[in-house]
Amino acid sequence: MEEDIRPVVGVIVATNSPLGRAAEAANDLNRHLPAPSAPGICPTCAGRFWPCAYFDDAAARLHTARLRLSDLVPLDLHPRLWPLPPPAVTPEVAWPQDPGPGEGDRHG
Ligand SMILES: [Zn+2]
Repeated sequence: MEEDIRPVVGVIVATNSPLGRAAEAANDLNRHLPAPSAPGICPTCAGRFWPCAYFDDAAARLHTARLRLSDLVPLDLHPRLWPLPPPAVTPEVAWPQDPGPGEGDRHG
């Protein structure tokens, strides 16, 4: 059966810790996480696609607090927020440099 609500856990942290200072932003972020069965829709903002503006705002506040957003977002949503990076640059490949004799400029 598909889950419609993400399970959550309460965490106690020091108020003056980085996460404690950004607790409201972390709560806001979680409030605007999509359900596993509908990863493209914010369940809090009616009719809004995810990530919604409120999620973006909470993410910006967490970023300002120097917290890693990826630690607060479920892993199944990571590809939606951070698409795979381009493949690494391949090491130098020895491409043929000279066309060789006989293959000159064909125009002319
Ligand atoms: Zn939302």
